Amino acid sequence: EEKYDVLIVGGGPIGLACGLESKKKGLSYVIIEKGCLVNSLYNYPTNMTFFSTSEKLEIDNIPFISNKPKPGKQEALEYYRRIATSNHLNIHLFEKVEKVDSPQNDLHRVTTSKRTYSAKNIIVATGFYDIPNYLNIPGEDLPKVAHYYADPHFYATQKTVVVGASNSAVDAALEIYRKGGDVTMVVRGPAIGERVKYWVKPDIDNRIDEGSIRAVFNAEMKEIRENEVVISSKEGEQAIENDFVLLLTGYRPNFEFLKNMGIKLSEDGKKIPQYNHDTMETNVPGIYLAGVICGGMETHKWFIENSRIHAKMIMEDITEKAISE
Ligand code: FAD
Repeated sequence: EEKYDVLIVGGGPIGLACGLESKKKGLSYVIIEKGCLVNSLYNYPTNMTFFSTSEKLEIDNIPFISNKPKPGKQEALEYYRRIATSNHLNIHLFEKVEKVDSPQNDLHRVTTSKRTYSAKNIIVATGFYDIPNYLNIPGEDLPKVAHYYADPHFYATQKTVVVGASNSAVDAALEIYRKGGDVTMVVRGPAIGERVKYWVKPDIDNRIDEGSIRAVFNAEMKEIRENEVVISSKEGEQAIENDFVLLLTGYRPNFEFLKNMGIKLSEDGKKIPQYNHDTMETNVPGIYLAGVICGGMETHKWFIENSRIHAKMIMEDITEKAISE
């Protein structure tokens, strides 16, 4: 059985930052990632542009050089991959952490899809991109329905419904419209979301005003069928012809995974995991949180820019504890 000072769950930007910081402190560590390197980023839409400028996406002050102020997905993949390879970070890819047991003694036992480990400290940096917010409506499991959007070409000439009104939904609607798709947005609220990137907002508002993209506001998707969808709004229920549906209604952290580790979640509906804001340690001694997982349901609160410091905070706590032992 492999034994480490620090076991990091998740090989996203923040998991990598934690690996770099462990290395600097001379601690033995391993990063375990269930997919490919920076798996969430790899699954972002092909043409996505970050809302952050490149220096705000940097970890460990390693310069992120990009052509435009805001980098795209491919540039970010280059950046984080080069960090992982040139620093020889110890990462096990395509291995999923299934269980963390923390008996009273100070060693955690970790079971993955491939083997078991023991570690003095665990850092959970699993993000929030694995689990979509399902609508739980009839037809959601049809093959024409997707909860992730990749590329607009696929939807060319097709009657496509996009559910949602935040950044993912708006980006998809605009791209698909520009590649010749016939787009209808189904929006729960009365308008396009307020957090939509300020440079994109006028574009979507104008396309809706001029009718190039249809939008049904204060509306709800009721059912998805083979050739149509049923939308409910003030005008009552209407069935419209449809080829493809993109349900871009956000994602959520894997709360079961946290609860099974013994981490407590707030009971106000936000499900914010309990942790010390100075050290990032959870209510389970030796288990830390890092990155966007900290926000619970409030997935917009944390991003790379404001959570990359977690790596340093955690490592300081771990090394201080080791000294006082
Ligand atoms: P993630 O990058 O999500 O990494 C978590 C990793 O953990 C994943 O690779 C996942 O596969 C892995 N994992 C999960 N469960 C397990 C398990 N049980 N075992 C092993 N591995 C596991 N943030 C910004 O700062 N700027 C932006 O411009 C920006 N744009 C975004 C655009 C989109 C479309 C989305 C969805 C998000 C964007 N974000 C942006 C937010 C972004 O997701 C986060 O900032 C960033 O990915 C967080 O890094 P992380 O390491 O905390 O989580």
